[in-house]
Amino acid sequence: MTNDFAGVAVVTGSAGGIGSAVATTLLEDNPRTRCAAVDLKPGHAEPLIGRYGPDRVLEVLCDVSRPESVRRAMDEIENWNTPVRSLVNCAGIQLAGSSVGFPPEDWQKVLDTNLSGTFYWCQAAGRHMMDNQGGAIVNISSVSEFFGWPLRAPYAAAKAAISALTRTLATEWAHLGIRVNAVAPGFIDTPLAREAIESGRLSKPDADALHAQLRFGSTAELAEAVAFLLSPRASFITGETLKVDGGLTAKKLDWPPP
Ligand code: NAP
Repeated sequence: MTNDFAGVAVVTGSAGGIGSAVATTLLEDNPRTRCAAVDLKPGHAEPLIGRYGPDRVLEVLCDVSRPESVRRAMDEIENWNTPVRSLVNCAGIQLAGSSVGFPPEDWQKVLDTNLSGTFYWCQAAGRHMMDNQGGAIVNISSVSEFFGWPLRAPYAAAKAAISALTRTLATEWAHLGIRVNAVAPGFIDTPLAREAIESGRLSKPDADALHAQLRFGSTAELAEAVAFLLSPRASFITGETLKVDGGLTAKKLDWPPP
């Protein structure tokens, strides 16, 4: 079955490690897909535009944590005159710190960006998909929703809520032809993951060893899972959070033994 479909794929956080890999995979695998690349800084989509051309890539500036910014961005995308068929919510931040002294403004920032930003974009794209024969959404959770991760209270809470949101929207919108799924990555080799290790005082070898496969995942591996969930190959999958974690959540014992 071909994945190829005509339509716009909106990718938030498209300048980041995972977002740029997702945008690239979708553009590479689907010649009729156009990508609305959504991120914060002017010029962020230049590498994608340089590679695929302005007819296939639209740079959209948006702060996902602000609903009015999301509405403006969605208007801009609708003016591109191609139905939005998919949305991938990759914009996210991580702030680490002891829970007892975690500043309320940092707590709010992590929730606003990761959770509210995901919701605002699901609302905007979902509304459009309802009027345009449906579509598919993939949100990015994290394995931190499945276990206790010291110093990451708002991040873990936001990611768990993203899965709850995903299940809720999936059931609310299934009859409208919209599928909503999430992926929960293990450590994927990006600046966000490297910063998480430094701020959490975890060495890279120790972080590698958390995974049954004893390594980080690549952004390309994560993008493959997202592309599958968006594609017609996943037509009977909705409300699911797919772990893409190299066995991190399955692992309980060091194996092979030292
Ligand atoms: P990344 O490289 O830091 O990319 C995140 C992107 O989102 C950046 O381009 C960032 O822009 C953008 N962004 C941040 N706040 C935004 C806002 N308010 N509005 C619009 N864009 C915003 O991180 P990543 O590793 O690719 O992570 C992508 C997603 O995967 C995140 O949700 C993250 O929590 C999740 N995840 C990552 C891992 C991992 O190991 N990497 C594991 C589990 C889950 P700036 O750089 O300008 O801030």
